[in-house]
Amino acid sequence: MASRRFFSTPVYCAPLLRGAAERGDLNARLLRECLQLREDDAAGRAWSRRKYPGGFTSYGSAHRMHTLSPTFAKLQRRLDRHVRAFAGELEFDLEGRELSMTDCWVNLMGPGAVHGLHLHPLATISGTYYVRTPRGSSVLKLEDPRLDRMMAAPPRRADCHPENRAWIEVPAEAGRVVLFESWLRHEVPPNPTGRERVSISFNYGWF
Ligand code: FE
Repeated sequence: MASRRFFSTPVYCAPLLRGAAERGDLNARLLRECLQLREDDAAGRAWSRRKYPGGFTSYGSAHRMHTLSPTFAKLQRRLDRHVRAFAGELEFDLEGRELSMTDCWVNLMGPGAVHGLHLHPLATISGTYYVRTPRGSSVLKLEDPRLDRMMAAPPRRADCHPENRAWIEVPAEAGRVVLFESWLRHEVPPNPTGRERVSISFNYGWF
Protein backbone atom coordinates (compact mmCIF):
# COMPACT_ATOMS: atom_id res chain seq x y z
CA MET A 1 0.00 0.00 0.00
CA ALA A 2 1.31 3.44 -0.91
CA SER A 3 -0.61 5.28 1.78
CA ARG A 4 -0.14 5.23 5.54
CA ARG A 5 -2.48 6.21 8.34
CA PHE A 6 -1.81 9.23 10.55
CA PHE A 7 -3.69 11.23 13.20
CA SER A 8 -4.92 8.10 14.90
CA THR A 9 -7.66 8.16 17.53
CA PRO A 10 -7.24 5.08 19.71
CA VAL A 11 -10.10 3.88 21.87
CA TYR A 12 -9.21 1.44 24.64
CA CYS A 13 -11.57 -1.38 25.70
CA ALA A 14 -10.69 -4.11 28.19
CA PRO A 15 -12.07 -6.09 31.11
CA LEU A 16 -11.33 -4.19 34.33
CA LEU A 17 -9.97 -7.32 36.02
CA ARG A 18 -8.87 -10.68 34.68
CA GLY A 19 -10.25 -12.77 37.53
CA ALA A 20 -13.99 -13.37 37.16
CA ALA A 21 -14.53 -13.86 40.89
CA GLU A 22 -12.83 -10.61 41.91
CA ARG A 23 -14.56 -8.78 39.07
CA GLY A 24 -17.98 -10.06 40.16
CA ASP A 25 -17.36 -9.13 43.77
CA LEU A 26 -16.21 -5.56 43.06
CA ASN A 27 -19.00 -5.10 40.55
CA ALA A 28 -21.69 -6.24 43.01
CA ARG A 29 -20.40 -3.79 45.63
CA LEU A 30 -20.26 -0.95 43.10
CA LEU A 31 -23.82 -1.67 41.98
CA ARG A 32 -25.10 -1.56 45.58
CA GLU A 33 -23.33 1.75 46.20
CA CYS A 34 -24.55 3.29 42.93
CA LEU A 35 -28.16 2.46 43.81
CA GLN A 36 -27.66 3.62 47.41
CA LEU A 37 -26.15 6.90 46.24
CA ARG A 38 -29.37 7.78 44.43
CA GLU A 39 -31.27 7.27 47.70
CA ASP A 40 -28.84 9.49 49.63
CA ASP A 41 -28.04 12.19 47.09
CA ALA A 42 -31.00 14.61 47.08
CA ALA A 43 -28.95 17.28 45.28
CA GLY A 44 -28.10 14.77 42.55
CA ARG A 45 -31.75 13.75 42.15
CA ALA A 46 -32.78 17.40 41.79
CA TRP A 47 -29.95 18.05 39.29
CA SER A 48 -30.91 14.94 37.30
CA ARG A 49 -34.59 15.92 37.15
CA ARG A 50 -33.57 19.09 35.34
CA LYS A 51 -30.68 17.81 33.21
CA TYR A 52 -30.89 14.03 32.92
CA PRO A 53 -34.55 13.07 32.26
CA GLY A 54 -35.31 9.42 32.97
CA GLY A 55 -32.03 8.89 34.76
CA PHE A 56 -29.87 9.75 37.73
CA THR A 57 -26.32 11.07 37.58
CA SER A 58 -24.13 12.33 40.39
CA TYR A 59 -22.13 14.46 37.92
CA GLY A 60 -23.55 17.68 39.39
CA SER A 61 -23.30 16.61 43.04
CA ALA A 62 -21.11 13.65 44.09
CA HIS A 63 -18.50 13.79 41.32
CA ARG A 64 -15.46 12.66 43.32
CA MET A 65 -16.73 9.29 44.46
CA HIS A 66 -13.19 7.85 44.62
CA THR A 67 -12.53 10.20 47.56
CA LEU A 68 -15.77 9.30 49.37
CA SER A 69 -16.04 5.51 49.09
CA PRO A 70 -13.41 2.79 49.64
CA THR A 71 -15.15 0.74 46.93
CA PHE A 72 -14.79 3.53 44.38
CA ALA A 73 -11.20 4.09 45.57
CA LYS A 74 -10.54 0.43 44.77
CA LEU A 75 -12.08 0.93 41.33
CA GLN A 76 -9.77 3.91 40.85
CA ARG A 77 -6.69 1.82 41.67
CA ARG A 78 -7.80 -0.83 39.17
CA LEU A 79 -8.47 1.82 36.53
CA ASP A 80 -5.07 3.48 37.10
CA ARG A 81 -3.33 0.50 35.46
CA HIS A 82 -5.48 0.72 32.35
CA VAL A 83 -4.99 4.49 32.10
CA ARG A 84 -1.22 4.05 32.42
CA ALA A 85 -1.23 1.44 29.64
CA PHE A 86 -3.35 3.67 27.39
CA ALA A 87 -1.15 6.72 28.06
CA GLY A 88 1.83 4.59 27.07
CA GLU A 89 0.14 3.62 23.84
CA LEU A 90 -0.59 7.30 23.14
CA GLU A 91 3.11 8.03 23.82
CA PHE A 92 2.32 10.93 26.13
CA ASP A 93 5.32 12.77 27.51
CA LEU A 94 3.92 13.70 30.92
CA GLU A 95 7.11 15.53 31.91
CA GLY A 96 7.43 13.52 35.09
CA ARG A 97 3.89 14.15 36.24
CA GLU A 98 1.26 11.47 36.88
CA LEU A 99 -2.12 11.08 35.28
CA SER A 100 -4.53 10.97 38.20
CA MET A 101 -8.26 10.63 38.62
CA THR A 102 -9.91 14.03 39.09
CA ASP A 103 -13.61 13.09 38.81
CA CYS A 104 -15.67 9.94 39.15
CA TRP A 105 -19.46 9.85 39.07
CA VAL A 106 -22.42 7.51 38.75
CA ASN A 107 -24.90 7.24 35.85
CA LEU A 108 -28.18 5.32 36.12
CA MET A 109 -30.03 5.41 32.81
CA GLY A 110 -33.66 4.30 33.01
CA PRO A 111 -35.73 3.25 29.99
CA GLY A 112 -35.48 5.94 27.30
CA ALA A 113 -32.79 7.95 29.11
CA VAL A 114 -30.26 9.50 26.76
CA HIS A 115 -26.88 11.16 27.15
CA GLY A 116 -26.42 13.75 24.41
CA LEU A 117 -23.27 14.45 22.41
CA HIS A 118 -20.52 15.94 24.59
CA LEU A 119 -16.84 15.95 25.44
CA HIS A 120 -15.06 16.31 28.80
CA PRO A 121 -13.37 19.71 29.05
CA LEU A 122 -10.40 20.20 31.39
CA ALA A 123 -9.52 16.52 31.37
CA THR A 124 -6.89 14.43 29.58
CA ILE A 125 -8.31 10.90 29.49
CA SER A 126 -11.93 10.04 30.15
CA GLY A 127 -13.81 6.82 30.22
CA THR A 128 -16.54 4.64 31.57
CA TYR A 129 -16.74 1.47 33.57
CA TYR A 130 -19.90 -0.57 33.01
CA VAL A 131 -21.59 -1.93 36.11
CA ARG A 132 -24.92 -3.28 34.85
CA THR A 133 -25.87 -3.53 31.19
CA PRO A 134 -29.21 -5.21 30.48
CA ARG A 135 -29.30 -7.19 27.25
CA GLY A 136 -29.75 -4.78 24.33
CA SER A 137 -28.33 -1.78 26.27
CA SER A 138 -27.43 1.28 24.26
CA VAL A 139 -23.86 1.48 23.00
CA LEU A 140 -21.30 4.25 23.46
CA LYS A 141 -21.12 6.21 20.19
CA LEU A 142 -17.87 8.02 19.42
CA GLU A 143 -17.62 10.67 16.70
CA ASP A 144 -14.75 11.12 14.23
CA PRO A 145 -13.05 14.26 15.62
CA ARG A 146 -12.51 15.54 12.07
CA LEU A 147 -16.19 15.37 11.16
CA ASP A 148 -16.82 19.12 11.37
CA ARG A 149 -14.10 19.70 8.75
CA MET A 150 -15.40 17.21 6.18
CA MET A 151 -17.15 19.85 4.11
CA ALA A 152 -17.21 18.08 0.72
CA ALA A 153 -16.19 14.58 1.71
CA PRO A 154 -18.36 11.84 0.20
CA PRO A 155 -20.13 9.50 2.57
CA ARG A 156 -18.40 6.18 3.19
CA ARG A 157 -19.71 2.86 1.94
CA ALA A 158 -22.02 1.12 4.38
CA ASP A 159 -19.54 -1.78 4.67
CA CYS A 160 -16.42 0.42 5.09
CA HIS A 161 -13.71 -0.40 7.62
CA PRO A 162 -14.25 0.93 11.15
CA GLU A 163 -11.33 3.37 10.77
CA ASN A 164 -13.15 5.07 7.88
CA ARG A 165 -16.45 5.52 9.70
CA ALA A 166 -17.69 8.85 11.01
CA TRP A 167 -19.13 7.11 14.08
CA ILE A 168 -18.09 4.00 15.87
CA GLU A 169 -20.11 2.10 18.42
CA VAL A 170 -18.61 0.43 21.47
CA PRO A 171 -20.92 -2.08 23.13
CA ALA A 172 -21.64 -1.48 26.82
CA GLU A 173 -20.65 -4.65 28.68
CA ALA A 174 -20.66 -5.02 32.46
CA GLY A 175 -17.16 -5.46 33.88
CA ARG A 176 -15.43 -3.68 31.00
CA VAL A 177 -13.71 -0.32 30.83
CA VAL A 178 -13.57 2.06 27.86
CA LEU A 179 -11.00 4.89 27.65
CA PHE A 180 -10.51 7.71 25.14
CA GLU A 181 -8.91 11.13 25.02
CA SER A 182 -11.22 13.63 26.68
CA TRP A 183 -11.64 15.82 23.57
CA LEU A 184 -13.34 12.98 21.68
CA ARG A 185 -17.06 13.69 21.41
CA HIS A 186 -19.42 10.89 22.37
CA GLU A 187 -23.01 10.12 23.26
CA VAL A 188 -25.25 7.37 24.57
CA PRO A 189 -28.45 6.83 22.55
CA PRO A 190 -31.78 6.30 24.37
CA ASN A 191 -31.87 3.18 26.53
CA PRO A 192 -34.13 0.84 24.50
CA THR A 193 -34.50 -1.74 27.27
CA GLY A 194 -37.02 -1.77 30.10
CA ARG A 195 -34.23 -1.96 32.69
CA GLU A 196 -31.71 0.44 34.15
CA ARG A 197 -28.23 0.68 32.61
CA VAL A 198 -25.62 1.49 35.26
CA SER A 199 -22.18 2.93 34.58
CA ILE A 200 -19.44 4.94 36.30
CA SER A 201 -17.69 7.67 34.34
CA PHE A 202 -14.41 9.37 35.20
CA ASN A 203 -11.77 11.85 34.18
CA TYR A 204 -7.99 11.73 34.54
CA GLY A 205 -5.80 14.83 34.34
CA TRP A 206 -2.05 15.43 34.28
CA PHE A 207 -2.19 18.94 35.71
FE1 FE B 1 -18.99 11.41 28.67
